[in-house]
Amino acid sequence: VATVDRIFINGDVRTGDPAHPLAQAMAISNGRIAAVGKSDDVLNLAGPDTKIIHLENRLVLPGFIDSHIHFGPWSLGLSRLELSGAGSFDEFLKLVAMAASEKPEGAWLLGQGWNETEWPENRQPTVLDLDRIAPRNPVLLWRCDLHMAVANSLALNIAGITENTPDPPEGMIVRDSNGRPNGLVREGAVDLVADKLPPVGDDALEAAFKHGQKIMHQVGVTGLCDVPLMNDPESAARHERTWIRLAEQGDLGLRVWSGIAGESLDKAIASGLRTGTGGDFLRTGPVKYFADGGMGARTAWMLEPYLDGGTGMPLIDMAVLEDGVRRADRAGFAVMIHAIGDRAVREVVGILDRVIQSRSGTEPSVPHRIEHVQMIRPEDLDILKRLNVVASMQPPNMIIDMNLIDECLGDKGKWVYAFGDVMRAGVDVVFSSDAPVCDHRPVTGIFGAVTRQRPNLTPEGGWRPSQRISLDQAVQAYTTTPARIHGAVNELGILTAGKKADFIVLDQNIYHIPALQIATTQVDMTVVSGDIVFQRG
Ligand SMILES: [Zn+2]
Repeated sequence: VATVDRIFINGDVRTGDPAHPLAQAMAISNGRIAAVGKSDDVLNLAGPDTKIIHLENRLVLPGFIDSHIHFGPWSLGLSRLELSGAGSFDEFLKLVAMAASEKPEGAWLLGQGWNETEWPENRQPTVLDLDRIAPRNPVLLWRCDLHMAVANSLALNIAGITENTPDPPEGMIVRDSNGRPNGLVREGAVDLVADKLPPVGDDALEAAFKHGQKIMHQVGVTGLCDVPLMNDPESAARHERTWIRLAEQGDLGLRVWSGIAGESLDKAIASGLRTGTGGDFLRTGPVKYFADGGMGARTAWMLEPYLDGGTGMPLIDMAVLEDGVRRADRAGFAVMIHAIGDRAVREVVGILDRVIQSRSGTEPSVPHRIEHVQMIRPEDLDILKRLNVVASMQPPNMIIDMNLIDECLGDKGKWVYAFGDVMRAGVDVVFSSDAPVCDHRPVTGIFGAVTRQRPNLTPEGGWRPSQRISLDQAVQAYTTTPARIHGAVNELGILTAGKKADFIVLDQNIYHIPALQIATTQVDMTVVSGDIVFQRG
């Protein structure tokens, strides 16, 4: 009989197991759950060295799994100027000016998170604004969606961007009426500037990952899918090496599925990997492709024009995408394809349909996914369900996009962030932060999906409230469903005997409080493999 290391008693344990959804106690042995049940029964398993931990009736859930996060940029960004808190254009300028005044002359000022659609002035910053408040430092500030950034003159100079610079393929240098760059760069054009940043060394990257892991534990995340950014296979490979380093050192305390950049598919096939293979903590994730851009930059690919014109664009040739998806599928890799506009989603659904229909023999052990599925026409939902394709969606993104969607789509916004419709169609839905695009806290996503409101409780009654989902559905999309679609259903995502002991304790019971208070919930304790990796206070 294995010794019981710890027993957690007197909790409100929501197991995620439909057969036994409620319990009070768990016994932990060797990193796994040995028993789940009533406190008195489980206490009977205690040996002389067993530690007893009293949960004082607090809520226990399986550890959250963030199914789509850009962990490298997010963890490095923790040291960047955070601009999502700016409530107006004016406030944004003040934050940037203050940060610039604290930097030595010539040092880069990097920031992220600005969102002009949330500002009363509703205007995007330009090179002139930045030059006025930060003339002595090169400045690069990403918009919240990461599809666009604004740079000042020093940064444009370093990047060699002048009025004679042509737009890069799949990118745009925005220009004023005289044809001069106005400081805004979209998609691939952001890299013209970002490529000039001083490189981050391996040790600095490892330190950023460790710090990021700590923050993840503080918000109850015990697993995540690390998603590569577009056009950046080198960074993706560096991040993968960093994860490997942490795992080898025994410093990895997150279940990580490390995604592969589509550009690296051949290398991955040659190395014999498959999605889902790996060790206890680090596993191979899906292969990432991009079909289109984002709504904020009007680069999401639409069936009908935006209210202010244009239908966006594909960011990859659809035939090239289909070829990649087919080769990945045949080699045992799941794909995750970024598709935001309804046209992009329809094209991707068609590609997946053809690839899956023409299968013969091997197939990936885990399902393919579409990332964001931000706008989907009702007629495309049934195919998604029939193909067993996962919708990987982001409620925290809805929170920052409500004004944007109303502004650029009007009534067609009813097909955007349609969590209710997608779930009612029977499609598997996983939730995530898409950090650093959005708030990294899963409770923010749960709150947003259940209330369809911002944490300041606007709009009253919720934004397109018919798309609300239940608390149980939201919790599942952060726990059991991601464990299942990552191929870890026998290990993670449910609190039953034999599973890995990854769970969290919350400071308030979100099942007993008004939904409007969910966003204020804090994680009191995070347990990974039976070890307490975070404890508040
Ligand atoms: Zn993303």
